[in-house]
Amino acid sequence: MLAALTLGTVPGAGAAAIDDLPGTGAAALPVPSPAAPERARTVVCVDPGHPNTFNSATSMVNGTNENRINWQVGVRLERQLKEAGYEVVMTRNAELHSVENKDRARICNAARAALVVHLHCESTPGTGFALYYPDRQGVYDYKNDPENGFRGPSAQVQSDSRAFSSAMFNAMRGELAGTLAAQGVYGDSRTAVGSNQGALTFSIFSEIPTLTIEMVVLTNKKDAEFIKAAAGQEKMAASIAAGIRLYRAP
Ligand SMILES: [Zn+2]
Repeated sequence: MLAALTLGTVPGAGAAAIDDLPGTGAAALPVPSPAAPERARTVVCVDPGHPNTFNSATSMVNGTNENRINWQVGVRLERQLKEAGYEVVMTRNAELHSVENKDRARICNAARAALVVHLHCESTPGTGFALYYPDRQGVYDYKNDPENGFRGPSAQVQSDSRAFSSAMFNAMRGELAGTLAAQGVYGDSRTAVGSNQGALTFSIFSEIPTLTIEMVVLTNKKDAEFIKAAAGQEKMAASIAAGIRLYRAP
C-alpha cells in the first residue's frame, strides 16, 4: 500500500546555530561567547513498548508475544545506535519491566533526547510496518490520573515529528524493500487511543520528536517469522537506525 500522506522535507542534521548573547556593554572588545554546554553525542530515546497498567502484551501470538519482540528489537537497536556513535536512553531495563506510557515520555524528555522511537507490533489484518506521529494536539483522558486533561504535544513537536516520520519511512522502506511491506505514515488520531484522545499518550507528554513504529503485523505468520528470527530483528533495528541517522546525525 502507498503511504497515506506525502510528507514534507526532512530537516538537515546540523544543529541550529546558537546566537551570541548580547553583551552588557562593559567590554570594549568583542569577547568570545562562552561555549554552549554541548553534548558530545546525540541522545536517542528507545522505548520498547508495553508492559504498563493497560496492556502487558504478553499473550502468545504466532509463537511469541508483542512485548518480547519490542524488547528484543529495542536491545538490538540500542546496541546498533551506540556502535554508530549515539548515546542511547532506554525507557525500561528488562523485558517485563512495567512503565506507564506518560512516564516513558517523561524519561525521554528528562534525558533531553533529540528524538524518541516507540517500538510496537500490530495485530490487525494486513502485513508490513506502519508509522504513527502526533498530527494534532491531544488531551490525556484518564480520569483517575491527576494529570487527566493534560494537553500536548506542542505545534513544534508535531511538525518535527512529521519530518522525523518522513525520514524514517523513507529509510525503512529502502532498507526493508523485498522483505517487508511498507504500509504508510499515519496520524496518531488513526489509532484506537488516538481517536479518543487526539494523540497517543506518550505523544501527548512528549517534548521531543516522537514516532510510533508498528514494526510488523505480528498476527501475520510471515511477518511473525521474520521478526522472531535474530536476522530479522537485526535488519529491523538497522532500518530504524538508518531512519534516525537520516533525521539526526550521531
Ligand atoms: Zn503495542
